Amino acid sequence: MSAPRHDGRDGVGGTLAAQSAAGDEGASRRGFDSTRVWIFDLDNTLYPSACNLFAEVDWRMASFIAELLSIPLEHARYLQKRYYHDYGTTLTGLIKLHKIDPHRFLEYVHDIDLTPLTEAPDLARSLAALPGRRIIYTNGSRRHAERVAEKLGVLHLMEDICDIAACDFIAKPSPDAFKRMVERHGVPAREAAMFEDMPHNLEAPHTLGMTTVLVHSDYMDHPAQQKIRTWRKLPEHIHHATDDLTAFLAALSAENS
Ligand SMILES: [Mg+2]
Repeated sequence: MSAPRHDGRDGVGGTLAAQSAAGDEGASRRGFDSTRVWIFDLDNTLYPSACNLFAEVDWRMASFIAELLSIPLEHARYLQKRYYHDYGTTLTGLIKLHKIDPHRFLEYVHDIDLTPLTEAPDLARSLAALPGRRIIYTNGSRRHAERVAEKLGVLHLMEDICDIAACDFIAKPSPDAFKRMVERHGVPAREAAMFEDMPHNLEAPHTLGMTTVLVHSDYMDHPAQQKIRTWRKLPEHIHHATDDLTAFLAALSAENS
């Protein structure tokens, strides 16, 4: 399987999708011929950021910190983003600095209403057509991933879910987190493809030898995402980019049929 060809929207995601489809330097380096394990981030990757589901999780993180430290929500929001940028995830910062119970945090932040999420039959069809195993790999909890995947109608298509607890609360983008995921699920890295909305979360899988795909998200709250606007071509560690995961996967399957 080579890089699928489809048109992207205007803007950053569309530009990157067009780069990938045009077979630029990044896209030509690595296709999907040897891909047998398809690994998907959950939030803002398997479902589009436009539904604003993750925004609710994000605000509940700030709310958790406000309650924990008895501080105003605005101050908590500032700390949340500081921890996120400095430690990779808000949870990692909270564990390191405040010794919190990570299970309590995950239960709190994922206690959200899934109404904004709609069933995604086209995505399910595209996933079902992929040859090999499919895994969700998230910095969130297994329960959250199960609820979201169930609502999308794709849970039954997943072999397993790797959550942050399964990685000993070591989060993406840490290379140690990816090593744990690969070992736990017996993933031959050179036969795997990783789909992610956070560009820096694709560095470790690229180093391990995976094919990497950046899925465009409009929810840009990390400096690494904001840098995307300055890209003239895909960076070394990203082989493909798309603003439409379902169309990207459907194009892959069409080429293979
Ligand atoms: Mg994500």
